[in-house]
Amino acid sequence: MANVPDLDVSNVIKRFGEVPAVDRVSFTVPTGSFFSILGPSGCGKTTLMRMIAGFIEPNSGDIRIKGEPTLGIPPNRRPTNMVFQHLALFPMMTVADNIGYGLRRRRVSKADITRRVEAVLDRVGLAGAGPKKVDQLSGGQKQRVAIARCLVLDPALLLLDEPLGALDLKLREQMKVELKQLQAKLGTTFLYITHDQSEALVMSDQVAVMNAGRFEQVGTPQELYYDPQTPFVAGFVGNTNSWTGQVARHAGQQVEVATEDGPVLKAHAVDPVTAGDKVSLFVRPEAIALRRETPPDGAENLVHGSVQNLLFDGGNSMAIVQDTATGHMVTVALPQTGEFAHLSQGEQVSLSWQAGQARCFAAEAPNASRTP
Ligand code: ADP
Ligand code: MG
Repeated sequence: MANVPDLDVSNVIKRFGEVPAVDRVSFTVPTGSFFSILGPSGCGKTTLMRMIAGFIEPNSGDIRIKGEPTLGIPPNRRPTNMVFQHLALFPMMTVADNIGYGLRRRRVSKADITRRVEAVLDRVGLAGAGPKKVDQLSGGQKQRVAIARCLVLDPALLLLDEPLGALDLKLREQMKVELKQLQAKLGTTFLYITHDQSEALVMSDQVAVMNAGRFEQVGTPQELYYDPQTPFVAGFVGNTNSWTGQVARHAGQQVEVATEDGPVLKAHAVDPVTAGDKVSLFVRPEAIALRRETPPDGAENLVHGSVQNLLFDGGNSMAIVQDTATGHMVTVALPQTGEFAHLSQGEQVSLSWQAGQARCFAAEAPNASRTP
């Protein structure tokens, strides 16, 4: 079928108690894409995925896979397969037997199983590893076996629930790149859930940011990072600095915000705001220029402070600067020129950034419900 998305979720609600775990979620996943759902622990990611896989049914709403309704269809009759965080491999069985498990249960012939297992091992870069015991494999290889075990069943949609969660940092970094390359090579649609924003940003074509059962924003990693539409997205995706205050003046989307006990900061308003409104304001660490001297006249947003801390991390080094007037801490990404390699604690610096780099949002009343 042309133009039918692999997954079409509309208005899905799932309640366990009073508060819905998944609350009116709608989205589509285009065929062949890498789509991630990113949100903090407990926001409803696994619940949403279990509904797509068919382990639980929604209270209301509709889930279509390849255009077909799924209501009442059990997991083993859906064209989906799920990779779990704990992988759930059989440690004493060989790689080939692990991968062939689902095919044996479907009573596929022995010859076909051997052929399909070999083909999938080749696709995930484990050709020849079939006779090995799972126990003999590295963490990254086990990960690939878990994925191969799903792929061998030819799912339309591969569901991955925090599959890198159990790996150590170095391996996780490596597997991020590997998974993305694997998905691009296979062309299988991946629906990936994670609480780790760097995983979602690096791997995905599109990311949905989820918070308290709702989708806040769906977009490309670049859209989420450079053009967040809600304060939650601005704060959750990437590092950022934030201030709260009240709108002093505005002209269209250009606003001046009187921060609490602090400077008046200019920003670009995402939400419609008017004088007196309570707002929050966000600026990325790399949007801020740090200087040892007073900046040229006309710097739009200017903060004087002292260096509290230097976080040296090679190309990603940061300085934490305390605003002298307010005590507010501001994180600044240092340029890679080495110019600030010897910045010292307590040194007086000035910070400035352009209004267009700062995003302003209407402050939300707690529990305010948002209509996406
Ligand atoms: P995430 O995967 O984002 O960490 P979950 O989907 O596991 O979040 O959980 C979302 C919310 O639903 C949590 O408050 C969790 O306690 C609740 N929840 C999940 N599964 C059940 C269940 N079977 N029974 C009752 N509450 C549940
Ligand atoms: Mg979960």
